[in-house]
Amino acid sequence: MSQPEVQISRLRQEIQNYDYHYYVMDEPLISDNAYDQLMQELIHLEKSYPELITPDSPTQRVGGKPLPKFNSIQHRQPLLSLENAFNESDLQEFHRRVARIAASADYITELKIDGVSVALVYENGILINAATRGDGLTGEDITANIRTIKKIPLRLRQPIPRLEVRGEVYMPKAEFVRLNQEKEEKGERIFANPRNAAAGSLRQLNAAITASRALSAFIYDILYIEDTTINTQQEALDFLREQGFPVNREARFCAEIDEILAYCHEYNELRHQLPYEIDGVVIKLNQFADRDKLGFTAKSPRWAIAYKFPAEEKETRLLDVAVNVGRTGIIAPTAILEPVSLAGTTVSRASLHNFDLVRDKDIRIGDIVLMHKAGDIIPEVIKSIPEKRTGNEQIIAPPVNCPSCNSTVIRPDGEVAYRCENINCPARLKESLVFFASRTAMDIDGLGPAIIDQLVEKGLVTKIEDLYRLTVEQVQTLERSGEKSAANLIKAINDSKKRPLSRLITALGIRHVGAKTARILTAQLTSIEDFLSVQEDYLTTIPEVGAKMAESIVSFFAQPRNHETIDGLIAAGVNTAEERTVEGEKPLTGKTLVLTGTLSTLTRQEAGEKIETLGGKVSSSVSKKTDYVVVGEEPGSKYDKAVELGITILNEKEFLKLIEGDELSNAGTGTVLLPVDTTGKRTVPVPAKGEE
Ligand code: NAD
Repeated sequence: MSQPEVQISRLRQEIQNYDYHYYVMDEPLISDNAYDQLMQELIHLEKSYPELITPDSPTQRVGGKPLPKFNSIQHRQPLLSLENAFNESDLQEFHRRVARIAASADYITELKIDGVSVALVYENGILINAATRGDGLTGEDITANIRTIKKIPLRLRQPIPRLEVRGEVYMPKAEFVRLNQEKEEKGERIFANPRNAAAGSLRQLNAAITASRALSAFIYDILYIEDTTINTQQEALDFLREQGFPVNREARFCAEIDEILAYCHEYNELRHQLPYEIDGVVIKLNQFADRDKLGFTAKSPRWAIAYKFPAEEKETRLLDVAVNVGRTGIIAPTAILEPVSLAGTTVSRASLHNFDLVRDKDIRIGDIVLMHKAGDIIPEVIKSIPEKRTGNEQIIAPPVNCPSCNSTVIRPDGEVAYRCENINCPARLKESLVFFASRTAMDIDGLGPAIIDQLVEKGLVTKIEDLYRLTVEQVQTLERSGEKSAANLIKAINDSKKRPLSRLITALGIRHVGAKTARILTAQLTSIEDFLSVQEDYLTTIPEVGAKMAESIVSFFAQPRNHETIDGLIAAGVNTAEERTVEGEKPLTGKTLVLTGTLSTLTRQEAGEKIETLGGKVSSSVSKKTDYVVVGEEPGSKYDKAVELGITILNEKEFLKLIEGDELSNAGTGTVLLPVDTTGKRTVPVPAKGEE
């Protein structure tokens, strides 16, 4: 092979590997800037040696392969990529090329939203399917996921026979920060940037996961329309807005190249203030008739270009690494940096997230590192620069003991995090107390974060069990705490001693053990002693308990410091046993209930607890096996499904009667509690707002 051939082949292999991680795994290995540089190098080489261009070169192809786990959707129009411009002269050259052919070279400039490209198809005004871009010709069917995004209309304002549009689903910066925080607290891998977070959230087989992330969208192109003539991009954007689509408000009409350059400059400055991430500006020819004259290359339209903002990356020195214990016990490294000005702020610290990442990136104390801001906000070490090492750099190892309480650090299977499992570790204590007292746990009225802060700061509570030793006089010494409120708090604390064992298990904050799991566990393990001696083998025989959960439970109860807390709670008189009932004796044993809509007297959790205490099971979806569907205000599609399947529907009043026992004799026989219409379907209207 000739020298250029070797170089081209090496670059293609490298880019294909990066593409795979970026498009398929949603986990980029390098920064977009570094990727763009490699791509430019390849484009440059292929320009010099056009005979070496092959159809499978990354320069000729769009995106990545659709994942086989999704159904695929063929796009009626190929969803192309955009040619890139990196500076003013690239833009001027684009304008010259366009002006040679187009009758009127005026443009619409739009923000380039850094998200996931999607195509939506509407028939008679109703959303019928949605797909990712995929390889441009075939995308992944993500209709169920798209339906969970509130900004995307399921029905248009007019019943247009057929409309296909393209847009970008994105994750707002604030949601990206929240999600990564949540992931970090759970010891999971974090997303590198909002784009990958949006892609990872959208490409989920379980649409409920998509629904739990606050995704949003902007729609910017009409791919196909029947029965309406649209001549310009400006008209297209107006039309999309009229039909109820979210259309970005920053788009601007530009008649001159100078106006385009000014727009690019303006938003390069303003981008840090936007609530979503943008990585450039898209410049589109306005007149569709002119677009037709210009046409397309294999990969992109000739009438549009993406101006990419210069990357904000800076080098600085890693002075030290601080090891912190977070409020949930996760032990994480933080980089202490020589201060550097980055995207509008001075950065001197950056989370290194976890020790795996430090090892994978080979980051050492003393290194020169390359920094940027993920999602425009979170300072992040992109990589170390080994060529600049002096030989005095220090490798960073994970700690063996908790830096706060010295307990042995554990690393749960399948997690990236190291953790301190001592519930009373000073670094975690406040958070442990807030959770312990919360409504889902011991439900101690009046014991919120503000009081807990003071109790801990004043040294009145140094471990969970100290709560039960507090006196009215001590509480009265806290700010804004009178005699009456202090007495109320002490009463609420004392009342919590009587809570069922399942609540105490929830309150201990064991990883993977929420309120529902705690109730499942206490149906089998009926005293705290059972928990202290339980083995993983036994736990995994309980149908709802997986290996991860079992490991977490056993590891929690193996911590000597947690034993001390349990002894303290027993000594304080907290209930640590569940009454055992003979299987089959409970009134809802064997019954499956589904809840939909909001109940006015009970939260979902409380309703679930009641059902489970009575031996019933709560399911999240309606099927033929469902015994009752409990319908609150504003019910969802589960109500329709119940009607369709002829399942017994209970309104709130009837449900309360059922769980309070009045109708239990009926419940056991599956008696229909609501009238049935002539078609055999239950037709009792859902209670309106304000009605009981
Ligand atoms: P692109 O990001 O350069 O531009 C095209 C995309 O812009 C379109 O697909 C569309 O989704 C989007 N877009 C956003 N707002 C738009 C608007 N208003 N109008 C029209 N389109 C709009 O191209 P691409 O093919 O999606 O991705 C290539 C880029 O992805 C690379 O330049 C690189 O930055 C990044 N990438 C990074 C890695 C990595 O490893 N870091 C790997 C592959 C790709």
